[in-house]
Amino acid sequence: MHVEHHVSVPDPAAGPDVYRRHARAWLQSNLPDFMRTDHPDWREATLAESSAWEAAMYQAGLAGMTWPKSYGGHGLSLREHLAVNKEIGALPMPESVSSIGKELAGPIIMAVGTEEQRQAFLPEILAMRQFWCQGFSEPDAGSDLARLRTKAALDGDQWRINGQKIWTSGAAKAHYCLLLTRTGTVADKHRGLLMFAIPMDTPGIRVVPIKSIDGKTSFAEVFFDDVIVPDSARLGAPDEGWNAAIRVLSIERATNRMYRPWRFECELRQLLAACKSDPQLSGSLDDSYVHRRVGDLLCEIDGLKGLVELTVDRMSRGETMGARGSLTKLYWSECHQAFTGLALSLLSQVGPHSSALAQRAHQAFTTAYLFARAETIYAGTTEVQLDVIAQRIMNLPKELA
Ligand SMILES: Cc1cc2nc3c(=O)[nH]c(=O)nc-3n(C[C@H](O)[C@H](O)[C@H](O)COP(=O)(O)OP(=O)(O)OC[C@H]3O[C@@H](n4cnc5c(N)ncnc54)[C@H](O)[C@@H]3O)c2cc1C
Repeated sequence: MHVEHHVSVPDPAAGPDVYRRHARAWLQSNLPDFMRTDHPDWREATLAESSAWEAAMYQAGLAGMTWPKSYGGHGLSLREHLAVNKEIGALPMPESVSSIGKELAGPIIMAVGTEEQRQAFLPEILAMRQFWCQGFSEPDAGSDLARLRTKAALDGDQWRINGQKIWTSGAAKAHYCLLLTRTGTVADKHRGLLMFAIPMDTPGIRVVPIKSIDGKTSFAEVFFDDVIVPDSARLGAPDEGWNAAIRVLSIERATNRMYRPWRFECELRQLLAACKSDPQLSGSLDDSYVHRRVGDLLCEIDGLKGLVELTVDRMSRGETMGARGSLTKLYWSECHQAFTGLALSLLSQVGPHSSALAQRAHQAFTTAYLFARAETIYAGTTEVQLDVIAQRIMNLPKELA
């Protein structure tokens, strides 16, 4: 794999349009064919290849845009971040192998971490030398996170941690876990929650991979058995854990992977090109039902783009997204799940004699379809987002009498 390093990054004063053109030119000339999910030569990149690619993107100014220069970032605004994301979305690129570090752990370390923690973690995350996982969910605490039981007890000047997490994405490759624990009892609910940055090689941590429907083992159960960490592993003050967790969830819902609508549009074009390339499939594009569904989808994608632009506008004015992140999460996950269902039904005729593009699309959309089942679950299920919208945006009562 050959990618350009040490590229000159445009002057921020030039504005987001110049930055966007820089991102487009760099990505188009450097993205290797085997990483293009629409290319017949596509193959799954190894972790080392993905890391090298993302490290090169960072050096080209395409990651860490909004992080301060003192922590390895480019010191730019959310507008440049969005400009780059539009170009990342427009190409059929693999997902980041470090989005938990770059998009969740990084911002929360910046918000509640000590200066020492920021210096130690942030540049390493951007340089792709450090992976993170998010240890929030437990077997009895998912949608209702306040029921989590993993216990952190002060033992002299150290913390002793016992408990279990589940569905921890990327746990096997992670160097650190953004771990949510409680210091009191479950009855304390939101009080007494405490967040940590725990090195995954600490004695007492056991990672047991879980195989998902797509055959991958990217998430795991993580067991903590008398895990001892120093007080310097604490992220934020005791009792600040719930607020920090809510901030993580709001980032996850509102701004994480901002490129999604542009990527969905790219996938829609990929689907239509694959159908057109194959004599057996191209006939299905004459169907008026398919025309209506494609029209609906493009409207939904445009609506989603508008929601992302609105989010960036509001955040650029200093507003926090809070509960409104649920609108974006609900919209993109439902839209993508329906889209991948349509894609798979259009590609259902693909066989060994179909065109190479059609075969590649069938493989890519089968994976996307299976993963889309999870999209309405992780970062809060559809039912939870609907409740948040009803109760916290529209102020409806919590429970009907
Ligand atoms: C691909 C994937 C990756 C994940 N990665 C991570 C990770 O890295 N770290 C991490 O901590 N977690 C992760 N999760 C876990 C995820 O956050 C939880 O699965 C999610 O919060 C739902 O919790 P649960 O699975 O316990 O389901 P439950 O909360 O038990 O929900 C079960 C069902 O009940 C419904 N329900 C629950 N409460 C209500 C309510 N109040 N009103 C109406 N309906 C309700 C839900 O909508 C759902 O349909 C991941 C999940 C997936 C699928």
